[in-house]
Amino acid sequence: PVDGAPVRFAVLGLGWFGPDVAIPAIEESDFCETTVVVSGDREKAERVADEKGVAHALTYDDYADGEATDAYDAVYVVTPNALHLPHVETAAELGKDVLCEKPLEADAARARKCVEACEEGGVELMTAYRMHTTRSIRWVRDVVQDGAIGDPVHTRGAFSYNLIAAGEDMDQWRLNPDLAGGGPLMDLGVYPLNTSRFVLDSDPEAVHATTVEGPDEFDGLEKYVAFTMEFPDGAVAECDSGYEVAGDNYFEVGGTHGRIRVDVPFNVDADRTITVSAGGEEQVVEVEEPSEMVEEFDYFATGVLTDMAIGPDGRHGYEDVRIADTIYESGESGGRIEL
Ligand code: NDP
Repeated sequence: PVDGAPVRFAVLGLGWFGPDVAIPAIEESDFCETTVVVSGDREKAERVADEKGVAHALTYDDYADGEATDAYDAVYVVTPNALHLPHVETAAELGKDVLCEKPLEADAARARKCVEACEEGGVELMTAYRMHTTRSIRWVRDVVQDGAIGDPVHTRGAFSYNLIAAGEDMDQWRLNPDLAGGGPLMDLGVYPLNTSRFVLDSDPEAVHATTVEGPDEFDGLEKYVAFTMEFPDGAVAECDSGYEVAGDNYFEVGGTHGRIRVDVPFNVDADRTITVSAGGEEQVVEVEEPSEMVEEFDYFATGVLTDMAIGPDGRHGYEDVRIADTIYESGESGGRIEL
């Protein structure tokens, strides 16, 4: 039990992930409750509030004006990437702790402003990387850090989704550079990027990337990116991500004595398969995960209600966006760039 629970959330952005995944997870959690929903469309907010049994339905303007501020303790920002900053700034001004979806913002300058606003406002800022509360990835990190595969020297990871073959709307915000800040790298590639940092418990010091521009509808965004990241102790990460590549979804860590591979690590609430090859033997483990979104909300709430430091915090999320910006720079120049 945690004193002060539940933490009451305002959920901002009623697209796919907020109402379909996050609000049900909050309902299932031990320490959280949704008391406010916020949308650009008042009728939608009222409809979702009604369907989900939420007391308050606001527009973004109402939220910015501080309406119903006594009805919530924290905000969960689940709008397009380049619309995280204004909502984070309002939350910081109102003294509300923030759980903000990944990537923290559309570019490093804006991500830094999110961090600064929350530090100035004295509120918590967590970047919502599910992988940090996913049991299988946490297990991989623990055994790698304990030396089970010797010194970790290599990660490989890919996360792709063929949105062209899926017949997705080409007018969506994910293909709008102003709202997304990038193509598959910002949406999907940040998963292997961030999971490499998390599992190696280290930050890269140089990147080298190749990007391939998408068709006209991509408005200059890449449809494919491949990048390497060099870590200070010599470890190297190799990752790729695309919007015209089907279903790549794996993460692997290679060490001096063995290797661990996780299949389907990055889809939300998927059951994962972990294959450990070490000492000449191979072991395959099917992992039934508890809901990582429930874990994520309860973890955040515990940090808000106690002295526990919350991670990945805003600075950690900012670092990913800084790395992503440098990956784009390298994609354009074709060279290796130190961070
Ligand atoms: P959707 O497109 O499904 O929904 C986004 C919502 O944002 C819209 O429905 C809309 O809600 C609101 N919005 C406000 N302004 C705009 C605008 N100008 N254009 C489009 N939408 C707008 O996106 P997702 O829910 O999939 O993604 C939202 C965020 O969550 C992103 O940052 C994404 O990276 C992240 N995400 C994280 C996932 C994870 O596993 N952690 C999975 C999926 C997404 P309204 O009409 O209510 O204003």
